Amino acid sequence: MGTIEVIQADITTLNVDAIVNAANESLLGGGGVDGAIHAAAGPELLEECRKIGGCPTGEARITNGYKLPAKHIIHTVGPIWRGGYKDEIDLLRNAYQNSLKLALNHNVESIAFPNISTGVYGFPKKSAAEIAFRIVREFICKNRYPKKVIFACFDEENYDIYKAKLIG
Ligand code: ADP
Repeated sequence: MGTIEVIQADITTLNVDAIVNAANESLLGGGGVDGAIHAAAGPELLEECRKIGGCPTGEARITNGYKLPAKHIIHTVGPIWRGGYKDEIDLLRNAYQNSLKLALNHNVESIAFPNISTGVYGFPKKSAAEIAFRIVREFICKNRYPKKVIFACFDEENYDIYKAKLIG
């Protein structure tokens, strides 16, 4: 069975098989973690993303990691929080689940997730962490890969929430 770690870090610095990008549907880059990943991976990433041609909310796509220490980037699109009336919970679950499925299909041993949708997309942080932990725990119990899942928290608030969840 796989393990879960919680760290506070810039996800672009991590030496893992795959990092997950909290992208938008265009896959053409943006602010926040998406911007940081594109800046660190270099312009070839944008070229590959252009060829993919977008990704609907809740789905995921895999690319090369280019200049990143990570071999792959799994781009997923989390929902924009609209008060909880627009299927946001299921869409966030799908974003985690579909990222993990891609990791499994590519024999990804170690993967790092950012706190998807909890930045400009405004998803409440505690509920988002609840969903992330539940989906990841279920998935690593049932599947051979990934063997290690890292929650790479950036802001202090998420880091505190995730640390508490790891113990509790
Ligand atoms: P979203 O649009 O999905 O909300 P954001 O990038 O705005 O995406 O925020 C998602 C999470 O990523 C936030 O918790 C934010 O603190 C975090 N974040 C921003 N930059 C980085 C980074 N370099 N590494 C890891 N996490 C980051």
